[in-house]
This record gives sequence, C-alpha cells and structure tokens, in this order.
Amino acid sequence: DNNNSSSITADVQAIDADHHMHPFTNTGALNKKGARVITKGEGVYLWDSEGNKILDGMAGLWCVNMGYGREELIEAANTQMKELAYYNTFFQTTHAPAAQLAKEIASVTPGDLNHIFFANSGSEAIDTIIRMVRQYWCIQGKPYKSILISRENSYHGSTVGGTSLGGMSGMHKQGAPLVPNIERIRQPYWYGEAGDMTEEEFGVACAKALEDKILEVGPDNVAAFVGEPIQGAGGVIVPPANYWSEIQKICDKYDILLAADEVICGFGRTGSWFGSETLGIKPDIMSMAKGLSSGYLPIAAVAIGDRIANAFIEHDDDFNHGFTYSGHPVAAAVAIANIQLMKKENIIEQVGTDTGPYLQQKLRETLGDHPLVGHIEGVGLVAGIALVKDKNTKELFGDDIDIGMICRDHCFDNGLIMRAVGSRMVMSPPLVISRAEIDELCEKARL
Ligand code: PLP
Repeated sequence: DNNNSSSITADVQAIDADHHMHPFTNTGALNKKGARVITKGEGVYLWDSEGNKILDGMAGLWCVNMGYGREELIEAANTQMKELAYYNTFFQTTHAPAAQLAKEIASVTPGDLNHIFFANSGSEAIDTIIRMVRQYWCIQGKPYKSILISRENSYHGSTVGGTSLGGMSGMHKQGAPLVPNIERIRQPYWYGEAGDMTEEEFGVACAKALEDKILEVGPDNVAAFVGEPIQGAGGVIVPPANYWSEIQKICDKYDILLAADEVICGFGRTGSWFGSETLGIKPDIMSMAKGLSSGYLPIAAVAIGDRIANAFIEHDDDFNHGFTYSGHPVAAAVAIANIQLMKKENIIEQVGTDTGPYLQQKLRETLGDHPLVGHIEGVGLVAGIALVKDKNTKELFGDDIDIGMICRDHCFDNGLIMRAVGSRMVMSPPLVISRAEIDELCEKARL
C-alpha cells in the first residue's frame, strides 16, 4: 500500500544519504532530493519503491542486454556458486567456466581475436589494453613506442588509466595528474562539428587528424590508436561511413596497433556481435564488458589477436598483470549462459534485421519533426538525439537551460529511462525489446 511504500522509500533514501556516495554524482544535492529507489526488474521494465513501472530505455547502463529476470542466467550463477564459488587463475590453475568462456568469446569475436584475458570491468579491460600494447612493443624491442592516441569526448572508464585514455575533460580536471604518453585527436561528430563539410569529407578530415598527430609525435613513438566503434557515453556519436576504413589505413601505414573499445558496442548492440563488424574495423585487440554477462555479474574481457598474443606466448616471461577475480567462475558461468541464450534466441539477427532498423525508423517518425530535435543518429538498438534551440541553425540552448536534464526528467516522470549527455539524449534498450515496446518507448519520449 501507499503508506508502506512511502516509508520504504524514505528509509532507503535516509540510509543512502547517510552512508552511500554515488558514482558520477553531486552527493550533497542528491542527498537533499533523495535517490529514486529501484526495487525490481522484469524483461525491459523496472519498478521503483513507489510501485511505478518504468521502461528501461538504457538497459541499466548499456548492459542488461538480455533483459531482467532471466532464469537461465540466475540458474547458471546458482549452480556454479554451489560447485565452486571461487578459484584464481594465477597459479598454474584454471577451471571449466574460465576456459569455456574464453572459447565462447573466441567463437563470436571477428578475425583472429582468439586469445582472451579476463577482468571485472570495462575500465580494467582498458587498463589491460594500455599495459598490454605498451608491453607488446617492449617485447618487439621498441620500448619507445608507448604513446596511445584516443579521441576527445571518448569514454574509456574511470580508473586512472581509463580516465587518462578517455577524452572527458570534466574527468581530467579531477584526481590529476593523469597517466603520461596519451594524446587525443578530434572526435568524428559530424552533426555537431563538421561545419560545411559533407559526411565523407569530414570522415577523411577526422582520420587525417590521426595521421597529423602521429607525424607530430613521431610514428616510432606511437603504440596504438584506441576508439569506441560508436562513441557511447559521449552521446552516441556514429562516425561517417568512411571514417574507420581511413583510420585503419593510417594505423597500417605507420605500424600502429588498432584497439576497439567494445564495452558498449559489443554483444549485439549494433546488430552484429561487435561494433567492429558493423563499422568495418579489424582491430588487433578489443575490450568488452557490460553485455558479456548482460550485467548480471561484473565481468570483462580483452580479446587479443594472434599478432599480439603470439608475441607474449613466444616471449617466455610472465605478464605481470591481472586481478584476483580475473575469470571469476560464477561470473564466467553467467557469461557463458548469456552467450548461449543470445545464440538460442537469435538476438543478433533480430537486432540487425528487425528491432534495430525498426527503432531507428520509429524514432525518426515519432521525434524527427519535434521542434527540439536537431538530429537523430544510431545503429541497431543504440541512438542519440541532438537537442537544439533552433532546428535550422543548429543553435544550442545556453548554459541557463539544461535541456538534456529537463527532457530526461520528463521521460522519467512518463515512465521511461533515457539518459542525458549534455544536450544529447541517448538510449540503448535491452536487446530483447519487442516492436510494441519500441512503440511505447518512442511515444513516452515525445514531449
Ligand atoms: N569503455 C567504454 C566504451 C564504456 O562505455 C565504459 C563504461 O561505460 C567503460 C569503458 C568502462 O566500463 P566500466 O564502467 O565497467 O569500468
């Protein structure tokens, strides 16, 4: 009843305010307002402690790809926890879940990305890539090849390594100094930053920025270029169609490794197993997390191609890197069950040929003519909407109006979770979303 749910809400909020410091949050302001208490999830829906049903247009944090409450995943965790709750993979030991999951991941990654290193979060996977590509060049006798190049407004996590590699200026200002030998180039945000250039011209110009940077710092000093196939946390920015092939050519030309951060794009988000396939990238190494276990337990991985993996294997020395929970058996068992469930339900094909195109079309039909909507971009079940003051001139709202937050709160009150990134709204619903639920999402998003 109402009284009861209100007191649950107040109790949890009070404890939360007293003791819980939230990530990426103004804690003082939140404590005054009280956090919304989420109590239950089923399919694409959440419920809060007041009994409100909410359509989760973000799949948690781009991760609950197979939806909430899946018995197959719950059962996998339960069974594995009873059998062997934990054992490490450091000391000449392994276990079936870690070995089997490595095989499952290798079966869905493109190209020769057949060697798997486990971590617990996307940030740790990125730190692993930073250390691994630098160590790769050391093994090659080129320790000076240590610079990593990434993009402005990219997101690669929140550890010291991830923060340093990412291009979020608001993060760089806090907890500095950052990890050295990281350089950044412009992002390929055509709608917002291309001026008069066509998409194709802009794609070439943004890739050229990589070549310019390489020449500026010296090709002999560059270890790798790292990018999200589609920038997620930066606002869902889909690069021009020619961008990645141009980037690839430049990496090849200067013998620079190409790393794809697939933490959001991986596991079906764009309608292929990995964003690299959708965007035509052939990475030497890639990070993944989130959708790997549909967020049911924390687990992440780095998939490593033959070139890098064989260098480590033939080097005959320890790689001094890893985490207590690398290849955690319970998380691995859940990830195996998740991949098997994705295969059984043909979810990649469904997103690629049915619900993905449907969401993209429906969003444009429902919101395209809205006075606040400047541009909609996305692929599969991920999309970003640019909010503008003036559709014709692309003029943005001033700092006095936080239009993203206003729209986010409007959606929230309407029973829909979308996220605001500055003046962009982003969405990434669970991959199991139906056409009818997509209709509901689009209707609830319209002001
Ligand atoms: N890389 C990308 C592309 C991400 O989107 C994220 C998280 O959103 C991360 C890395 C960091 O992952 P985690 O939050 O699991 O550390």
